[in-house]
Amino acid sequence: MKRNIIVLCLLLLNGFLIAQPDRWQQKIKYSINVKMDVVSNRFSGTEKIEYTNNSSDTLSRVFLHLYWNAFQPNSSMDMRSRELGKTVISEPNPRRASDGLDWDSRVKDRISKLSSDEIGYQRVSAVLINGAAQKLKEHETILEVILSKPILPKSKTVLDIQFEAQVPLQVRRSGRDSKEGIRNSMSQWYPKMVEYDYQGWNANPYIAREFYGVWGDYDVQISIDKNYFVAAGGDLINANEIGLGYEASGSKPTPTTSATRTWKWQANNVHDFMWAADPTYKMITRKVANGPLIRVVYKAVDSVETRWQKLADTCALAYPIMAKTFGNYPYKTYTIIQGGDGGMEYPMATLINTASVETAIHEWMHSWYQMILGTNESLYPWMDEGFTDYSSTRVMATLRNRQGFWQDATYRGYFALAKSGWEEPASTHSDHYNTNYAYSNAAYRKGAVFMEQLGYIIGDTARDLFLLDYFNTWKFKHPNPNDLIRVAEKRSGMELDWYKEYWINSTKTIDYSVGDIAVIDGKTSITVKRVGKMPMPVDVLITFKDGTQEMHYMPLDLMYGEKPKENAIPRTVHPEWIPINN
Ligand SMILES: [Zn+2]
Repeated sequence: MKRNIIVLCLLLLNGFLIAQPDRWQQKIKYSINVKMDVVSNRFSGTEKIEYTNNSSDTLSRVFLHLYWNAFQPNSSMDMRSRELGKTVISEPNPRRASDGLDWDSRVKDRISKLSSDEIGYQRVSAVLINGAAQKLKEHETILEVILSKPILPKSKTVLDIQFEAQVPLQVRRSGRDSKEGIRNSMSQWYPKMVEYDYQGWNANPYIAREFYGVWGDYDVQISIDKNYFVAAGGDLINANEIGLGYEASGSKPTPTTSATRTWKWQANNVHDFMWAADPTYKMITRKVANGPLIRVVYKAVDSVETRWQKLADTCALAYPIMAKTFGNYPYKTYTIIQGGDGGMEYPMATLINTASVETAIHEWMHSWYQMILGTNESLYPWMDEGFTDYSSTRVMATLRNRQGFWQDATYRGYFALAKSGWEEPASTHSDHYNTNYAYSNAAYRKGAVFMEQLGYIIGDTARDLFLLDYFNTWKFKHPNPNDLIRVAEKRSGMELDWYKEYWINSTKTIDYSVGDIAVIDGKTSITVKRVGKMPMPVDVLITFKDGTQEMHYMPLDLMYGEKPKENAIPRTVHPEWIPINN
């Protein structure tokens, strides 16, 4: 009977942990049809949006992103970049230009120098609902659509959009004719519905960061010069029509007498769609057992051929580590495409500019921390860049048989930030940081340390189980920091809100030192001093002259719990300590 009760309790606990949250979210279906002119670098298109308002709110207007309007002289993105270019940062910054200034090395003042046939734009000529034209108001990279009839709660509306666009000369993420010679990197390329969630509209202008979207399905038809090879984050549904054994390495479309070819793509249960096109693209594939088909698409140049082959092999080796530690990748394919300006993540695909294994693994890990756990990148960049930095560092360490994080850029970057005087709380909106330096180190490095350090607080075993709980609880949804902490609390049985408040919402540091060591009545007394203002549970490892070790553990009162003992070193648990804040 006792045994039965234990089994029942375990089942209940398990059911509780993986229960799906009941937060509503909007749903969307895009049907996009574009005709690309590879000479003028312009395209026109139609876009049908089936939008389901699952909220209990009546919507009198909707918003669309028009990202490419950022690539025009004097745009907000241009002005912001030139403003950041006035700040000298002496600290190491992965994205900093070699000139020591705070602007992004890829952007600098390049937008201000674009000519009329090099700028980007997206122009919506009409948004129709049931044949009726809606009133439009453009705010640079955001289009406001004022509805003639509001969208009622729990109802579906169909919007028919006509638009045209010019592909900008490659500056940031998307564009034409990149430094490596890729013709078209097509991200942020279509009028994209702004997400409406429990916090309202998220109509963030495109000045730097851009990821947050409505979950849904995409049908995309791309007509383009017949000599171009198209790659995308999705499944090609007319491979036979094109006459292409698409998954066969190195295969080319069959000759055609018409000037163009139409590629038909589908991607379901995603929140964005990206594609790329180039006449010299070559594709290789790797099939992972119990995993996706990996496609690698790159500009065929003999000198780098083996590097792309090796990258494909490493990604295939990495997948079992990723799945075991962070959860199963749910889509059938993942495509690594040469393009863009570094590395940038999209659903089911990435654009990377060179055959860097580290970059490919980082971008693929974004499938977990952004593409499946769809956090709002503007509000919580540490939850996608930080956790991606953490997970990709861990995957690379496992692949290369390396131990630990202490030697990595992750901790070094955070320590430099904490001492720099530039630090702002990691809860800052990603576009509102004073410097790119503070943003990138808070989002990537401090976010990664959050996850490694969570293992120190709740134990590495519980942290690893939490990683899978978090994935399974919040996949295909928009988790926020509280959602994350709640999952960690349920898994560990500890209260952890204090950890988020101190680490994310403040810039207080963790710094402890050993003070006096005294022998009183034959007993040794060791004083531990808090130097930084952030309270933490304290592990003190004592090593004796003969090499034997003892662990002394002082839980923090705010935790209402203890970390389990995780190794063979004898451990003494002391009474919880109570920090006095000032
Ligand atoms: Zn990233």
